[in-house]
Amino acid sequence: MTGIITRFAPSPTGYLHIGHAASAHHVWDYAGRHGGTALLRIEDIDQTRCRPEYTQAIYEDLGWLGFSWPLPVRVQSKCMRQYETVIQHLAGHGFAYRCFRTRAEIKDLMMQSGATRPAYIGRPLPAAEERDRLARGDVYAWRLNLQEIRSELGKVWDDLAFAVDRGGGLATVKADPFLHGDIVIARKDTPVAYHLAASYDDHIQGVTHIVRGTDLADAPHIQRVLQVLMGWKQPVYVHHDLVLDEAGKRLSKMAKSASLRDLRRYGHRPMDIWQRLSLQ
Ligand code: GLU
Repeated sequence: MTGIITRFAPSPTGYLHIGHAASAHHVWDYAGRHGGTALLRIEDIDQTRCRPEYTQAIYEDLGWLGFSWPLPVRVQSKCMRQYETVIQHLAGHGFAYRCFRTRAEIKDLMMQSGATRPAYIGRPLPAAEERDRLARGDVYAWRLNLQEIRSELGKVWDDLAFAVDRGGGLATVKADPFLHGDIVIARKDTPVAYHLAASYDDHIQGVTHIVRGTDLADAPHIQRVLQVLMGWKQPVYVHHDLVLDEAGKRLSKMAKSASLRDLRRYGHRPMDIWQRLSLQ
């Protein structure tokens, strides 16, 4: 592979819809315009919501639209051991801690503090208390320890930034990791969480340009921290607009927006999809 590397990284939690077709278009188009390669990655870490038939459908629907990608495809559920190593590394350096608070407790805390975002900032329990809770078998999540990371990184933290291609040159955006707070990087029911898995994969796959929707425009604020802590190269970010429905709401797999499979079943051709999206 030469040139830049982009990726399309859907989660198989439902059938792809027209918004995914637009997103895939942006990814492959960006790679094409820059003489690069577009990879496909299956982000199926949430085993409670992902299903193999949706993964199969992703291959079929993207193929039908005319996209192709190098093989083998990276499938996150098959890489759990690799993520575990990163989690251990972060925990071993004090950059992550075990948080025994439940989601509901955290929500209550956030409500009490009047915060509008789920930007929880906590700290590790004293060692003896942690030991007791582990011995009791209490459930915990690994969370990034942003206060510790900030004091460890010092000036590097103050200078954290990322590059966004908004067309017509790169813009530098100052990163604000506290926007996300101490994100969960692993849970008992999901051994790795989105930001860590995606950032690790982007690193291991040599992704140079991350092209994705504006719904994830805030993700670099925290993913940049992982890149710095782990010594991973920083990619350039490109955020494309989302496809909205008639009511101006974002399409979703959950809301059963017309899936690409249904459109195909009703006789639509890829050309009709591109025309509808005004992407020809
Ligand atoms: N898997 C994510 C999704 O389907 C995309 C993650 C990413 O592009 O970083 O929304």
